[in-house]
Amino acid sequence: MADRSSALLRFFFGTMGSGKSTQALQIHHNLRQGGLACLLISQLDRTHGRVSSRLGVSADAIVIDPSMDLFALVRRHHEDLDGELHAVVCDESQFYEPHQVEQLARVVDELGIEVYAFGLLTTFQGVMFPGSARLMELADVRSELQVEARCLCGARATHNARLVNGVQVYDGEMKVVGDTGGEATVTYALMCRRCWTSGRDLARQTSLFDGEARPTAPAGRIVVDLTDSGSPTDGASPFDGAGTGPDDAVVSSSG
Ligand SMILES: [Zn+2]
Repeated sequence: MADRSSALLRFFFGTMGSGKSTQALQIHHNLRQGGLACLLISQLDRTHGRVSSRLGVSADAIVIDPSMDLFALVRRHHEDLDGELHAVVCDESQFYEPHQVEQLARVVDELGIEVYAFGLLTTFQGVMFPGSARLMELADVRSELQVEARCLCGARATHNARLVNGVQVYDGEMKVVGDTGGEATVTYALMCRRCWTSGRDLARQTSLFDGEARPTAPAGRIVVDLTDSGSPTDGASPFDGAGTGPDDAVVSSSG
């Protein structure tokens, strides 16, 4: 039986490319190597039940959706393991519903199971994902992943930008898959706040017009194309070592 007094809810956050999925997989691996039962869950259904990192590792995962009761899910596995489940590792936790984050807090407090949640902090609109906001509010430990990515201007990249056909946009659904079925190609880029803000302002101005006057992409902007979700090792990243990859993409749920 786990020691109920010591389990913690930990939230690790970072931009795209900060290695969140890689670290989630590392913790999952280390715990299992140590003989500890560990559950890996993710909200991204395009992973088809696996969490993968562009660094080449992956592991089976339970894919959840917004309707699922995470406390009940974890408790069921805990009981199946005769009360020996040690930890739950949560990938893409920015997409969890706030009430699901509260269920994770109950997993810690009532079942004595460790929870390690990994996620993006802010959307392409520069505001917190609801799930990440709840994690910030409830977590015992909040930790920013320190793998740094750089904006093309050289400053530290802190913001996630969405680009449609290479142009930063500000309006749209929180989750959008790369292939929208039309002519538009959706990609994501890492930027510093200054570049992100100027791109957003341009997008806002342009949206006042009738869709005719589209802004041109800032010259030389490097775009992290996360639309190819094939092999985790596919595609060169402009941010060497930053772990930018499909695992950290913001994508839609299907359907
Ligand atoms: Zn910049």
